[in-house]
Amino acid sequence: MDYINEVIEMVIRKNPSEYEFHQAVKEVLESLRPVVEANEEKYRREALLERLVEPDRQIIFRVPWVDDTGRVQVNTGYRVQFNNAIGPYKGGLRLHPSVNKGIIKFLGFEQILKNSLTGLPIGGAKGGADFDPKGKSDREVLAFCKSFMTELYKYIGADTDVPAGDIGTGAREIGYLYGQYKKIRGTYEGVLTGKGLTYGGSLVRTEATGFGLIYLTEEMLKAHGHSLAGKTVAVSGAGNVAIYAVQKAAELGARVVTVSDSNGWIYDKDGIDLEVLKEIKEVRRERLTEYVKFRPDAKYTQGKGLWTVKCDIALPCATQNELLLEDAKALAANGCIAVAEGANMPTDLEATKYLQENGILFAPGKAANAGGVATSALEMSQNSERLSWSFEEVDEKLKRIMKNIFHNMSEAAKEYHAEGNYVLGANIAGFLKVSEAMMAQGIW
Ligand code: NDP
Repeated sequence: MDYINEVIEMVIRKNPSEYEFHQAVKEVLESLRPVVEANEEKYRREALLERLVEPDRQIIFRVPWVDDTGRVQVNTGYRVQFNNAIGPYKGGLRLHPSVNKGIIKFLGFEQILKNSLTGLPIGGAKGGADFDPKGKSDREVLAFCKSFMTELYKYIGADTDVPAGDIGTGAREIGYLYGQYKKIRGTYEGVLTGKGLTYGGSLVRTEATGFGLIYLTEEMLKAHGHSLAGKTVAVSGAGNVAIYAVQKAAELGARVVTVSDSNGWIYDKDGIDLEVLKEIKEVRRERLTEYVKFRPDAKYTQGKGLWTVKCDIALPCATQNELLLEDAKALAANGCIAVAEGANMPTDLEATKYLQENGILFAPGKAANAGGVATSALEMSQNSERLSWSFEEVDEKLKRIMKNIFHNMSEAAKEYHAEGNYVLGANIAGFLKVSEAMMAQGIW
């Protein structure tokens, strides 16, 4: 059996039932094949791949908190510090009932190469809990966050591990977590990113993932003689990534016709009304069913089906495995020319393969949504300098980073004789830097 298959088999054997982790490892290692085969002897001797797929450390802890009725609730908290070869651990905290070790490990593993791809000095990690902030009072969310940080604080720090937001962890949660860290540690340091602007946050961080997704998509389209102007775009999700993707795509002249949440989706043929979307999701924290009350000509559909809408560009921005083979077929049949992943691993392996084989441009999440973590790293730089940069300055840096990511993955794909295969290009470009740093630092 070849080295890559051996490692994939080992990962499955050692981590049964961590399906999302298996999926991410398979996707990454398969696309690293040209590099691994050229260096097989050296990598085997160094056990490089075995070390890459085994986290530096996995922390799992109890999170007890008291709900509004006075009952004690118990959740499970996670922090997986995957690899710090090129910088301090960095990656978000996901708060969602579906969270388990396999999901956190897939996200942490992906984060290693994504962070490397940004060109910034940040290692890979991810964390979270099976806690659902939806439907909880502010006091309950505060109680959870305090308890979560009372354990997590032992393992993180501005130069060690810097968590950030993800699904379910927005400005409110980051604020509560930061307050508790400061209370316990007594230091004012940039230990979290995505902070509020009054206490060390960076301008553009809120918008960064969505804006970055659009900057990269535009760069990819440009390289193939297209642009977003005048295009019809389908977006899934209605959270942080989706909202700012809708905003920037519209600013560049596209018409975004869909958004979704876990219950259903909106089709607004005249273009999603950004103000209405923000009012419902960011201010009132309500469900998307409310949208049609403001926009009676829009249509709400319960359940799936969003990818059957005719569009030129599809941007999955909700969660993992939300765009499957049948969706890829529907997009292709409707003349879609590009898919760029705002979410992490929203497209499964079969669907990705189908899109690529049918000539649809495909930008993987680790490149397309890297604007969030890149701007988090810019927040860390500002915290270290004790300075704040202007919106324009951060936005300019974000644009430059997204352009560089596109060009790096595009060049890597060309170099390994797979021009236009951005999955392969992103994985190889991210991997080369991390593997070199790992080998330079001896065995650890
Ligand atoms: P939010 O919590 O702000 O929004 C998530 C959105 O996706 C909501 O509309 C949510 O609907 C929907 N969603 C979540 N789970 C499911 C599900 N199982 N099925 C269908 N819809 C679902 O999260 P973000 O926007 O921050 O994150 C979205 C994706 O982007 C994730 O994959 C995340 O890892 C990734 N990402 C985020 C970054 C960031 O900076 N925030 C950076 C890089 C990647 P509902 O309200 O019904 O739950």
